Amino acid sequence: MEGRIPRMVAEQLDAADPLAEFRDRFVHADPELIYLDGNSLGRLPAATTDRLRGVVEEDWGSGLVGSWREWIDWTARLGDRLAQHVLGARPGEVVVSDSTSVNLYKLACAALDAAPRRGTVLIDAEDFPTNRYVMQGIAEQRGLRLRQLSSDIDGGLDLDVLRCALTPDVAVVVLSLVSYRSGALLDMAEVNELARTVGARVVWDVSHAAGAVPIDVTATGTELAVGCTYKYLNGGPGAPAFLYVCRELQTRLRQPIWGWFGQREQFQMGPDYDPMPSIERFLVSTPPLLSLAALDPALTVIEEAGMARIREKGLLLGRLADDLVDTMLTPLGFVPASPRSPYRRGSHVSLYHPHAWQICQASAEEAKVVCDYRVPDRLRIGLSPLYTRFTDIWDGIARIREVTVGQSDTSDPPIRRG
Ligand SMILES: *Cc1c(COP(=O)(O)O)cnc(C)c1O
Repeated sequence: MEGRIPRMVAEQLDAADPLAEFRDRFVHADPELIYLDGNSLGRLPAATTDRLRGVVEEDWGSGLVGSWREWIDWTARLGDRLAQHVLGARPGEVVVSDSTSVNLYKLACAALDAAPRRGTVLIDAEDFPTNRYVMQGIAEQRGLRLRQLSSDIDGGLDLDVLRCALTPDVAVVVLSLVSYRSGALLDMAEVNELARTVGARVVWDVSHAAGAVPIDVTATGTELAVGCTYKYLNGGPGAPAFLYVCRELQTRLRQPIWGWFGQREQFQMGPDYDPMPSIERFLVSTPPLLSLAALDPALTVIEEAGMARIREKGLLLGRLADDLVDTMLTPLGFVPASPRSPYRRGSHVSLYHPHAWQICQASAEEAKVVCDYRVPDRLRIGLSPLYTRFTDIWDGIARIREVTVGQSDTSDPPIRRG
C-alpha cells in the first residue's frame, strides 16, 4: 500500500522546488519534527531573534523614549508592505493594529454606523468562532437581526445560500476567505458583487488566507478586511493583526473606539476627538512594539519568496497530500474532507476520522508529527509552503499512518470532546 507513491516522487519535487532554500530562513530546533500546523502558528523566522534583540537592547535599552521617533510610523509602514505584497491593496489602505477580533469589531461597527436604516447582519454559521461571537455581541448591543447562513463544514459556504439571504435590509456580511476548518476558499470578487447588488458591505477575514493564497483586494472590489499575522505570515504568537479599508471609504467611516492614535495632530492633545482623514483613523492606541518588530523579518521572507511562488508550491504540496491521503490513509478510515481541488482551498487540508483527536495526540507524542484537531472529528494538515518540504508531507503522512495502525490495535472507543 505504502509503495504506491514512492518517496522518490517527493524527493524529486524537493529537488525541483524553487523555494527549497527558504526552509533555512526558519528555525528548525528539532530536525526530526515534522511541523504541519503553520496554519495555527507559523514557524520562527531565523532573523527574528536578532531583530528583536536589537529592538530591545538598542531601541528600547539605549534609545529609550527617543526611539518613538523611529517607531511611530511602523504600523503604517508594515501596513504598506502587507498591502503591496500580501493583500493587493494600495499604499495607505492597510495598518497593523490590535487583534483580528478587535479589528473586526471596529470595521463592522463602522460599516453598520454608515448604514443606519438597515437592520440585518449575515455571518457564516461555521465561521471561526471569534467572528461569530463578535457579531452576535454587536447584533445584541444594537438590536439588529443576526442571520447565520448554514454552510458545509467541509465544502464551505454555497453562494446560492448567500444570494438568497442578501435582502435590501442587510447592512453587513462577515465572511472568511479561507475556512479555518476545511480550508475551503471563497470567490472574493463574486461575493463582493453579490453584496453590492443589494448595497450590503462585506467585512472579510483573511486570517487563513494571508500568506497562503494571493489576495487582490483592489481587483476583487473588496472594501473592508481584517486578518492575523501569526499564521502563514509567521509574525509570532499574538502578533498584531491588520485591517484594510479601501481609500474611497476611509473618511466616510468612523470606528467605535476613539483612541488617541486615530486623532489628528495627536500630540496637540486637543479637547475633542477628530479622527485623521486617512487609514490611521482606524488605529486606537500605542502599538505593541516588540511584536510589531517581529513582523519586519517575517514579511521580508514573504516578499523575497513572492506570493505567486508561495501559492504555486502550496498547490503542489496540496496535490501531493491528496494523493498520499488517498493511497496511505483512506484504507484506514480517513476520508478527505476539504474541497478536492487544491485551487478551491487555502493551504491546509482537513481529513475526517472517527478517532481524529487520538490520532492527532499520538502523532505528536509518538511520531513527532504536529498537525491539529478540530471539532467534531477532523484532522487538519497545514502545508505552509515556505518551510514544508514535499518529503515532509510524505514522511508525515507515513508516520500518521503508522500511528493509526497502532491505535486501531487497542480499539479504544472514540472519545467525544466538546
Ligand atoms: C486565527 C483567526 C482569528 C484570530 O483572532 P484573534 O483575535 O487574533 O484571536 C480570527 N479569525 C479567523 C478566521 C482566524 O482564522
